[in-house]
Amino acid sequence: MAKIRMANPIVEMDGDEMTRIIWKLIKDELLLPFVDLNTEYYDLGLQRRDETLDRITHEAGNAIKKHGVGVKCATITPNAQRMTEYNLKEMWKSPNGTIRSILDGTVFRAPILIDSIKPVVKNWKKPITIARHAYGDVYKATEHRVTEKGKAELLFTGESGTQWRETVYDFECPGVIQGMFNKDSSIKSFAHACFKYAIATKQSLWFSTKDTISKKYDHTFKELFQQIYETEYKAKFEELGLEYFYTLIDDAVARVIRSEGGYIWACKNYDGDVMSDMVSTAFGSLAMMTSVLVSPDGNFEYEAAHGTVTKHYYKYLKGEETSTNPMATIYAWSGALRKRGEMDNNKELTDFADKLEKACIDTLNAGIMTKDLVGLVEEGNPQAVNTLTFIKEIRKRLEKTV
Ligand code: NAP
Ligand code: MG
Repeated sequence: MAKIRMANPIVEMDGDEMTRIIWKLIKDELLLPFVDLNTEYYDLGLQRRDETLDRITHEAGNAIKKHGVGVKCATITPNAQRMTEYNLKEMWKSPNGTIRSILDGTVFRAPILIDSIKPVVKNWKKPITIARHAYGDVYKATEHRVTEKGKAELLFTGESGTQWRETVYDFECPGVIQGMFNKDSSIKSFAHACFKYAIATKQSLWFSTKDTISKKYDHTFKELFQQIYETEYKAKFEELGLEYFYTLIDDAVARVIRSEGGYIWACKNYDGDVMSDMVSTAFGSLAMMTSVLVSPDGNFEYEAAHGTVTKHYYKYLKGEETSTNPMATIYAWSGALRKRGEMDNNKELTDFADKLEKACIDTLNAGIMTKDLVGLVEEGNPQAVNTLTFIKEIRKRLEKTV
């Protein structure tokens, strides 16, 4: 059988620990036998980041801008313990953060659903995709602990020399204070990424903030989304029969719980952080959560939502068998291949991505799965297998369809 050709490359970013092992298994067993894989390879493993003073991460981010599609393996974000473990020159920043700021992207997370694992919320039938604004607010805030009586003020000095000052609180006792910000440019990018992703995946878009209480801050988010929708996306949404719907965050929470799923829920930074954990847990497992970073100018980076699964890696190093779930990493690859296929009008490639995902789902539906999922299955007699066996079972099914 002739392998599927690719006219343009995908930016391939290798990573760390258990996911690095899985990365190679996926390529060897599920991709290379079928696709004449055209990738531009960047090793974002911690050692290589350290050797290149993290230049490699910046190069990878810029390569995604050039080629439009990337796929990334989970990577270690160093902390004090990793400094000693890897003898690092510096505590390098999170690669995801670096790439996100190069692409100015928004992260969309969606669960992979199978029939035998029922969401905790029983009326959820379709995936709920969370779009999280990954810039500013409390994540870039300035905070102070107030330890005595005194007045806290907000002071702004404009470039032109204008100033305004407002009392935040006249403290009669100790307390806390925080100042946070966001930028119109970032909010607009967020809005564009959400509307574009909604159109690309043909799903309606919900957006929620707390604008009744935050009459300027959250209201700005609401206004900018509405303006951008009206002027640039409304016609396309109507043509596709999609809805853009704004509501208060508390109303959104109630509606999400009562819904069937099948839409994108755009959230401010903090709301997205919290709600994506809630949604992924309610759907089943972090190991079944896919993630894609979409930039406002239409670049896509696919990855798994989970980390490098360190505990399993240490077992693997001791020669113990591991049953790490490769699903989210396989879907990162299928997502990237499908997007490459769409961009290049390469139907064979998009079909392959569909077949790969179907082979994964068929394997799970046959009751063959990794350990983490077995406990979640309500019916049938699931069989826990190790990672390699699971991938080989997927390959068996894939071979029958390509
Ligand atoms: P993690 O790698 O997501 O793993 C946490 C736990 O979740 C695991 O110990 C395992 O539980 C379970 N788990 C996660 N993925 C699984 C999978 N595919 N199959 C089976 N079980 C899975 O998070 P972490 O241990 O907090 O972080 C490890 C490293 O990953 C850190 O260095 C962190 O910086 C990095 N990280 C990277 C990314 C990224 O690159 N996107 C994201 C998050 C974290 P059991 O041990 O109970 O089996
Ligand atoms: Mg979180």
